[in-house]
Amino acid sequence: MGKPAQFMCRLRASTMAEFTGGDNYQAEFDPKAYLGYFKFGEDTLGEEYLNFALKHYCKTFPSGGVKGDTLIDIGSGPTVHQLLSACESFKEITASDYTDQNHQELEKWLKNEPEAFDWTPVVKYVCELEGNRGMEAEKEAKLRKTIKQVLKCDVHKSNPLDPIVLPPADGLVSSLCLEAACKDLTTYRIALKNISSLLKPGGHLVLSGVLGCSFYMVGPKRFSCLVLREEFLREVLSETGFIIQEFEVLVRDDNIDDSSDFSGKFFILALKEEAI
Ligand code: SAH
Repeated sequence: MGKPAQFMCRLRASTMAEFTGGDNYQAEFDPKAYLGYFKFGEDTLGEEYLNFALKHYCKTFPSGGVKGDTLIDIGSGPTVHQLLSACESFKEITASDYTDQNHQELEKWLKNEPEAFDWTPVVKYVCELEGNRGMEAEKEAKLRKTIKQVLKCDVHKSNPLDPIVLPPADGLVSSLCLEAACKDLTTYRIALKNISSLLKPGGHLVLSGVLGCSFYMVGPKRFSCLVLREEFLREVLSETGFIIQEFEVLVRDDNIDDSSDFSGKFFILALKEEAI
């Protein structure tokens, strides 16, 4: 009778998704493989995400009046899609990520090196959304000029940019990072509080990501993801002192691609309450 129980235990352990934390990202996250998601025109999952998120960024930043001097992007990864509209509304952007290889990949693009990822198709799409067709070169130059630094970041630290201390920013962006970095909802609550400490009261948080996602593939490597639901996000944001100004959800309509099991995408614009 002992044997089947033991067998069940082993089976459960091996089928349960293992949490991949910062060390796994540092050792196994391949920026080039991840960037494969963002090849526009190839029907990738990343393209589906971009179609949703970029429209909201465009509505929020250049035309929505969310602006200021300083903006921090948390968990930038090797990507700049999340900053293409923001650079029209903020004077200085700080990008950040946990891993060295993502820093290097971003630096390649910032220095316009030949091996850098080609963001031009995405930039072109954003220019069209913003009514500036044909201004791709100017947009890329502007973003390169506006990103002032790429810093090491760990959302689990009370100052995620430690040892650097930045003055509280006017805006905070984070895309697909917290659900990747947090192993459970309690950790997510704390991480949100940590990143919120980088934002001025009265500043805006622009948070986007995926709902109902337990994993995503980066090349052959499976990364865990924290399953998020809309009700949880509403609750945790208000508990952290945010007023939600927009909460958009788009339910996934394909189930063909098995590189991730997300059920929908979300976009949130929230205002950090002034201290009373
Ligand atoms: N923002 C990008 C990349 C998201 S991928 C985009 O929208 O496409 C998830 C990112 O979270 C990775 O770059 C990973 O390095 C980063 N990450 C993982 N753990 C982290 C942590 N503890 N603190 C900060 N970033 C982390």
